[in-house]
Amino acid sequence: MSGSFRIEEGERSDQPGDFHHARSKDEKHDHVIFHLQQAQGRGVARVIYNDPRRFGFMDLALRNDLDAYPAFRELGPEPVGNTLDAAYLAGRFAGKQQPLKTALLDQKVVAGLGNIYVCEALWRSHLSPKRAAATLVTATGRPKKELQSLTEAIRAVIADAIEAGGSSLRDYIQTDGTLGYFQHSFCVYDREGEACRTPGCGGRVERIVQGGRSSFYCHHCQK
Ligand SMILES: [Zn+2]
Repeated sequence: MSGSFRIEEGERSDQPGDFHHARSKDEKHDHVIFHLQQAQGRGVARVIYNDPRRFGFMDLALRNDLDAYPAFRELGPEPVGNTLDAAYLAGRFAGKQQPLKTALLDQKVVAGLGNIYVCEALWRSHLSPKRAAATLVTATGRPKKELQSLTEAIRAVIADAIEAGGSSLRDYIQTDGTLGYFQHSFCVYDREGEACRTPGCGGRVERIVQGGRSSFYCHHCQK
Protein backbone atom coordinates (compact mmCIF):
# COMPACT_ATOMS: atom_id res chain seq x y z
CA MET A 1 0.00 0.00 0.00
CA SER A 2 1.52 3.21 -1.35
CA GLY A 3 4.96 1.68 -1.91
CA SER A 4 6.59 1.59 -5.34
CA PHE A 5 9.75 0.73 -7.22
CA ARG A 6 11.82 3.04 -9.38
CA ILE A 7 14.87 2.41 -11.51
CA GLU A 8 17.97 4.57 -11.60
CA GLU A 9 20.77 4.21 -14.11
CA GLY A 10 23.80 6.43 -13.68
CA GLU A 11 22.46 9.96 -13.45
CA ARG A 12 19.14 8.98 -14.98
CA SER A 13 16.19 8.37 -12.74
CA ASP A 14 13.30 6.61 -14.35
CA GLN A 15 9.83 6.10 -13.11
CA PRO A 16 8.38 4.97 -16.41
CA GLY A 17 4.73 5.25 -17.33
CA ASP A 18 1.94 7.66 -16.49
CA PHE A 19 0.86 7.91 -12.90
CA HIS A 20 -2.56 8.86 -11.76
CA HIS A 21 -1.08 10.03 -8.46
CA ALA A 22 2.48 11.20 -8.02
CA ARG A 23 4.79 8.55 -6.61
CA SER A 24 7.02 9.38 -3.68
CA LYS A 25 10.61 10.04 -4.72
CA ASP A 26 11.61 11.24 -1.30
CA GLU A 27 14.85 9.40 -0.66
CA LYS A 28 14.20 9.17 3.04
CA HIS A 29 11.60 6.52 2.15
CA ASP A 30 14.04 4.43 0.07
CA HIS A 31 14.27 1.39 2.29
CA VAL A 32 15.82 -1.24 -0.01
CA ILE A 33 18.14 -0.64 -2.95
CA PHE A 34 19.28 -3.38 -5.34
CA HIS A 35 22.52 -2.53 -7.16
CA LEU A 36 22.57 -4.33 -10.51
CA GLN A 37 25.89 -4.64 -12.32
CA GLN A 38 25.33 -4.32 -16.05
CA ALA A 39 27.45 -5.46 -19.00
CA GLN A 40 30.86 -3.83 -19.27
CA GLY A 41 30.85 -0.07 -19.68
CA ARG A 42 27.18 0.32 -18.91
CA GLY A 43 27.60 0.99 -15.22
CA VAL A 44 25.30 0.10 -12.42
CA ALA A 45 21.52 0.23 -12.36
CA ARG A 46 19.68 0.60 -9.10
CA VAL A 47 16.22 -0.75 -8.38
CA ILE A 48 14.83 1.18 -5.45
CA TYR A 49 12.01 0.19 -3.16
CA ASN A 50 10.31 3.28 -1.77
CA ASP A 51 7.75 2.76 0.98
CA PRO A 52 6.52 5.95 2.72
CA ARG A 53 4.09 4.16 5.02
CA ARG A 54 6.42 1.26 5.83
CA PHE A 55 3.79 -1.46 5.41
CA GLY A 56 6.14 -3.65 3.40
CA PHE A 57 9.06 -5.75 4.46
CA MET A 58 11.70 -7.87 2.76
CA ASP A 59 13.59 -10.83 4.09
CA LEU A 60 15.96 -13.49 2.82
CA ALA A 61 14.90 -17.10 3.25
CA LEU A 62 15.92 -20.44 1.79
CA ARG A 63 13.48 -21.78 -0.79
CA ASN A 64 13.10 -25.08 1.09
CA ASP A 65 12.13 -23.24 4.24
CA LEU A 66 9.40 -21.09 2.68
CA ASP A 67 6.44 -23.21 3.79
CA ALA A 68 7.60 -22.93 7.40
CA TYR A 69 8.40 -19.23 7.12
CA PRO A 70 6.38 -17.31 9.79
CA ALA A 71 4.77 -14.89 7.30
CA PHE A 72 3.65 -17.77 5.05
CA ARG A 73 2.91 -20.77 7.21
CA GLU A 74 -0.51 -19.61 8.40
CA LEU A 75 -1.69 -18.21 5.07
CA GLY A 76 -4.89 -19.61 3.59
CA PRO A 77 -5.06 -20.82 -0.02
CA GLU A 78 -4.78 -18.30 -2.85
CA PRO A 79 -8.02 -17.34 -4.59
CA VAL A 80 -6.96 -18.87 -7.90
CA GLY A 81 -5.55 -22.04 -6.36
CA ASN A 82 -7.29 -25.42 -6.58
CA THR A 83 -7.72 -25.65 -2.83
CA LEU A 84 -10.12 -22.71 -2.63
CA ASP A 85 -13.61 -24.10 -3.08
CA ALA A 86 -16.99 -23.74 -1.39
CA ALA A 87 -16.39 -26.79 0.85
CA TYR A 88 -13.15 -25.27 2.14
CA LEU A 89 -14.85 -21.93 2.89
CA ALA A 90 -17.74 -23.74 4.60
CA GLY A 91 -15.19 -25.30 6.95
CA ARG A 92 -13.74 -21.89 7.76
CA PHE A 93 -17.11 -20.11 8.08
CA ALA A 94 -18.98 -22.70 10.14
CA GLY A 95 -20.02 -21.21 13.48
CA LYS A 96 -18.38 -17.88 12.64
CA GLN A 97 -20.50 -14.86 13.61
CA GLN A 98 -17.91 -12.52 12.08
CA PRO A 99 -19.25 -10.44 9.14
CA LEU A 100 -18.46 -11.85 5.69
CA LYS A 101 -16.33 -8.86 4.78
CA THR A 102 -14.01 -9.30 7.76
CA ALA A 103 -13.88 -13.08 7.40
CA LEU A 104 -12.83 -12.82 3.75
CA LEU A 105 -10.14 -10.20 4.44
CA ASP A 106 -8.53 -12.54 6.97
CA GLN A 107 -5.41 -13.75 5.14
CA LYS A 108 -5.51 -16.99 7.13
CA VAL A 109 -8.80 -17.78 5.37
CA VAL A 110 -7.85 -16.68 1.84
CA ALA A 111 -4.42 -15.26 0.99
CA GLY A 112 -4.10 -12.25 -1.26
CA LEU A 113 -7.74 -11.24 -1.32
CA GLY A 114 -7.75 -7.49 -0.66
CA ASN A 115 -10.37 -4.91 0.17
CA ILE A 116 -11.34 -4.07 -3.43
CA TYR A 117 -11.79 -7.68 -4.52
CA VAL A 118 -13.80 -8.62 -1.44
CA CYS A 119 -16.19 -5.71 -2.07
CA GLU A 120 -16.55 -6.63 -5.73
CA ALA A 121 -17.02 -10.36 -5.07
CA LEU A 122 -19.72 -9.71 -2.45
CA TRP A 123 -21.54 -7.38 -4.83
CA ARG A 124 -21.38 -9.93 -7.65
CA SER A 125 -22.85 -12.63 -5.44
CA HIS A 126 -25.52 -10.28 -3.96
CA LEU A 127 -24.29 -10.85 -0.39
CA SER A 128 -24.14 -8.15 2.25
CA PRO A 129 -20.69 -7.50 3.77
CA LYS A 130 -22.45 -7.34 7.15
CA ARG A 131 -23.94 -10.82 6.96
CA ALA A 132 -22.54 -13.35 9.43
CA ALA A 133 -20.19 -15.82 7.73
CA ALA A 134 -21.89 -18.81 9.39
CA THR A 135 -25.19 -18.09 7.58
CA LEU A 136 -23.67 -19.44 4.36
CA VAL A 137 -23.15 -22.87 5.89
CA THR A 138 -25.78 -25.57 6.48
CA ALA A 139 -26.32 -27.19 9.90
CA THR A 140 -24.30 -30.16 8.68
CA GLY A 141 -21.37 -27.95 7.66
CA ARG A 142 -22.03 -28.00 3.92
CA PRO A 143 -21.80 -24.87 1.74
CA LYS A 144 -25.15 -23.28 0.91
CA LYS A 145 -25.85 -22.24 -2.69
CA GLU A 146 -24.90 -18.65 -1.82
CA LEU A 147 -21.45 -19.76 -0.68
CA GLN A 148 -21.04 -21.60 -3.97
CA SER A 149 -21.80 -18.41 -5.88
CA LEU A 150 -19.54 -16.34 -3.60
CA THR A 151 -16.66 -18.74 -4.30
CA GLU A 152 -17.28 -18.43 -8.04
CA ALA A 153 -17.47 -14.63 -7.75
CA ILE A 154 -14.11 -14.52 -5.91
CA ARG A 155 -12.44 -16.53 -8.67
CA ALA A 156 -14.11 -14.47 -11.40
CA VAL A 157 -13.21 -11.11 -9.90
CA ILE A 158 -9.54 -12.10 -9.57
CA ALA A 159 -9.48 -13.57 -13.10
CA ASP A 160 -10.96 -10.34 -14.49
CA ALA A 161 -8.43 -8.24 -12.60
CA ILE A 162 -5.51 -10.29 -13.90
CA GLU A 163 -6.94 -10.04 -17.41
CA ALA A 164 -7.17 -6.26 -17.06
CA GLY A 165 -3.61 -5.95 -15.76
CA GLY A 166 -4.26 -5.50 -12.07
CA SER A 167 -6.12 -2.79 -10.23
CA SER A 168 -4.09 0.36 -10.52
CA LEU A 169 -5.89 2.57 -8.01
CA ARG A 170 -3.52 5.05 -6.40
CA ASP A 171 -1.49 2.41 -4.63
CA TYR A 172 -0.84 -0.08 -7.34
CA ILE A 173 1.41 0.07 -10.36
CA GLN A 174 2.81 -2.71 -12.47
CA THR A 175 6.52 -3.22 -12.15
CA ASP A 176 7.05 -1.60 -15.55
CA GLY A 177 5.30 1.50 -14.26
CA THR A 178 2.27 1.26 -16.50
CA LEU A 179 -1.17 1.43 -15.01
CA GLY A 180 -3.63 -1.41 -14.91
CA TYR A 181 -7.20 -0.79 -16.00
CA PHE A 182 -9.26 -2.85 -13.59
CA GLN A 183 -10.28 0.28 -11.68
CA HIS A 184 -12.40 1.36 -14.63
CA SER A 185 -14.56 -1.67 -14.16
CA PHE A 186 -15.15 -1.48 -10.42
CA CYS A 187 -18.82 -2.06 -9.80
CA VAL A 188 -19.07 -0.96 -6.16
CA TYR A 189 -15.62 -0.10 -4.87
CA ASP A 190 -15.15 3.66 -4.39
CA ARG A 191 -18.59 4.38 -5.91
CA GLU A 192 -20.33 5.76 -2.80
CA GLY A 193 -23.62 7.48 -3.66
CA GLU A 194 -23.60 6.25 -7.27
CA ALA A 195 -26.23 4.04 -8.85
CA CYS A 196 -25.91 0.30 -8.26
CA ARG A 197 -24.95 -1.55 -11.43
CA THR A 198 -27.07 -4.62 -10.75
CA PRO A 199 -29.61 -4.64 -13.61
CA GLY A 200 -33.02 -3.47 -12.39
CA CYS A 201 -31.83 -2.79 -8.82
CA GLY A 202 -32.23 0.99 -8.60
CA GLY A 203 -30.28 1.19 -5.31
CA ARG A 204 -27.29 3.36 -4.49
CA VAL A 205 -23.85 2.32 -3.33
CA GLU A 206 -23.20 2.95 0.35
CA ARG A 207 -19.97 3.05 2.29
CA ILE A 208 -19.59 1.62 5.78
CA VAL A 209 -16.47 0.96 7.85
CA GLN A 210 -15.72 -2.58 9.01
CA GLY A 211 -12.56 -3.49 10.86
CA GLY A 212 -11.10 -0.09 9.98
CA ARG A 213 -11.60 -0.64 6.22
CA SER A 214 -14.20 0.84 3.87
CA SER A 215 -16.86 -1.51 2.59
CA PHE A 216 -18.86 -0.43 -0.46
CA TYR A 217 -22.14 -2.22 -1.08
CA CYS A 218 -25.78 -1.83 -2.10
CA HIS A 219 -28.20 -2.78 0.67
CA HIS A 220 -30.95 -3.06 -1.93
CA CYS A 221 -29.60 -6.11 -3.74
CA GLN A 222 -26.94 -7.43 -1.31
CA LYS A 223 -28.61 -9.41 1.45
ZN1 LIG B 1 -28.08 -2.96 -5.93
